[in-house]
Amino acid sequence: MDFELSDEQKAFRETLRAFVDKEILPVATEWEHAGRYPTEIVEKMKRMGLFGLSVPEEYGGMGADMVSFALVFEEIARGWMGVAGTIGSHSLACWMIAKHGTEEQRKTYLKDLATGARRTAIALTEPGAGTDLQGIQTRAVRDGDHYVVTGTKTWITNARHADPLPVLVKTAVTEPAHQGMSVLLVDPSAAGFSVSRDLPKLGYKGTETCEVVLDGVRVPVANLLGGVEGRGMQQVLGGLEIGRVNIAARAVGVAQAAYDAALSYARERTAFGQPIAEFQAIQLKLADLATEIQAARLLTYWAASQADGGKRVDMEAGMAKYFASEVALKASLESMRVHGGYGYSQEFVVERLYRDAPLMAIGEGTNDVQRLVIARALVSGKGRIGW
Ligand SMILES: Cc1cc2nc3c(=O)[nH]c(=O)nc-3n(C[C@H](O)[C@H](O)[C@H](O)COP(=O)(O)OP(=O)(O)OC[C@H]3O[C@@H](n4cnc5c(N)ncnc54)[C@H](O)[C@@H]3O)c2cc1C
Repeated sequence: MDFELSDEQKAFRETLRAFVDKEILPVATEWEHAGRYPTEIVEKMKRMGLFGLSVPEEYGGMGADMVSFALVFEEIARGWMGVAGTIGSHSLACWMIAKHGTEEQRKTYLKDLATGARRTAIALTEPGAGTDLQGIQTRAVRDGDHYVVTGTKTWITNARHADPLPVLVKTAVTEPAHQGMSVLLVDPSAAGFSVSRDLPKLGYKGTETCEVVLDGVRVPVANLLGGVEGRGMQQVLGGLEIGRVNIAARAVGVAQAAYDAALSYARERTAFGQPIAEFQAIQLKLADLATEIQAARLLTYWAASQADGGKRVDMEAGMAKYFASEVALKASLESMRVHGGYGYSQEFVVERLYRDAPLMAIGEGTNDVQRLVIARALVSGKGRIGW
């Protein structure tokens, strides 16, 4: 059993860590409070090749293994979770195009997506359907060599930068509904496509999250992902597995940042003539956090390495995402307690971590849904724990 990263992964982590310390941490608080888009950081991430994380090498990407993929999201979220959002759904969509796209679609998009010259996102959620994706209302009706798409998508991260935007639609009304669902790669310059508004959010700032309206948008049939109707749900669910490793890793990064802030504050802050780190009540919080964060990290990289072994990892990724996001929520609150009144101040990082943490319990499937996914795998016998 080997709990160590390979030399290559260690070197990659060091590069990422140095990038976050130098380029993200010094500006994160100010830009986040100002609601400023992290343009310069995104440009540097492009130069580092991070937009090509999940693009195969033959199309100019990094073709990163899942452990390296998780390292990227952990390290960037340690600096500023909102920045991780700029490559999160992008990577998921690239993975879907690489895995399920036709050769023509791969050739058309992947090279530019790998460099960040083009960017992408993923549009699943609608005002009336999030968890219940089979309940979406967006329809794509065939008209010659085009589909005519009508519907509204909401909570779409990176919507203003996505070209193409993969959109989950119903190409047929079937029972069960997933048999009539497909993904279309939508060109944002098409008539009838609009990003109608940016949604105001508690945290996860920097990256935009928007409502998207498709009003009779004509999409060429050639843009049907994989070229066959009715495979959309299957394509999306495979992508969400990767997405859950991404969210688990972000949660570990946020939790680590909360712990780091708590430890350094506890060493510096004095009360009753001694550093508060000397008080047992503070030490117990630090011990609990360190233990739970390390457990979350191990679960996350276990899920990632299982995915690298080529297996379906619904249960493993679900466990990692569920546990790590709950740890991030707890860590941000406990770190705030260690900071006393200063934890509530916008001059300390912990208030941002506290606002960013809840998203990880919601995005890529809520934690209650993860628990159902885990339970289903266990009850069906497909998933099991232990050796
Ligand atoms: C900041 C942000 C960014 C996002 N980015 C994207 C994006 O880029 N693309 C995208 O497509 N979506 C995105 N989302 C949407 C996100 O994936 C959904 O919000 C999430 O899947 C939950 O869906 P919902 O909000 O419709 O909640 P609902 O599905 O309405 O759930 C409400 C509650 O009911 C519970 N519930 C629902 N069904 C069940 C069930 N069967 N059993 C038990 N409990 C259930 C849920 O757990 C939850 O507690 C984003 C959301 C946010 C907040």
